[in-house]
Amino acid sequence: MYRKVCTLLLIIAATGGSSALNIISRDGWGARDPTSTQTMSNPVPYVVIHHSASPGACYSKADCIDAMQSMQNYHMDSNGWADIGYSFGVGSDGNAYTGRGWSRVGAHAPGYNSQSIGICLIGNWMNDLPPSQQLQAVHELIQYGVDNGKISSSYKLVGHREVTATECPGDTLYQEIQSWAHYTPNP
Ligand SMILES: [Zn+2]
Repeated sequence: MYRKVCTLLLIIAATGGSSALNIISRDGWGARDPTSTQTMSNPVPYVVIHHSASPGACYSKADCIDAMQSMQNYHMDSNGWADIGYSFGVGSDGNAYTGRGWSRVGAHAPGYNSQSIGICLIGNWMNDLPPSQQLQAVHELIQYGVDNGKISSSYKLVGHREVTATECPGDTLYQEIQSWAHYTPNP
């Protein structure tokens, strides 16, 4: 029995290392239809990094679906927006969840909404760093966007606080993204 468990763990560790990007569709998380949409032209020159602050981190697909739904409900019902504000959400489960997607104007960073992909790392990253699989999924999502002509190959990456007065994306995550390729403090 012990040996079987060990073998299983080894298999999980081996497959977990080569994480392939998994983009969950809107249908996949039960998104509501937007009340209106506005098309955005690609490739976009900016990537804006956010955290959700609330809801907190989600470590299973079921919890991340709950988080996406709760953000969408808040953005539509309380803020009166047409849809969830972000282009994508990324969970601590390592999945990317489609919000407005690659080619629709978002509502996440005034002045940049029509020329950026807004990626929300679900969770509060003021004092904690997102787990490596979450960070990896963000990198892979950006690369997917570049490879598919959605994001300019010479894109600039910023934290939300660079373009709006906000604590977003949290101090610890903000420190992390400053070491990423294409980061700039001066968009
Ligand atoms: Zn933000």
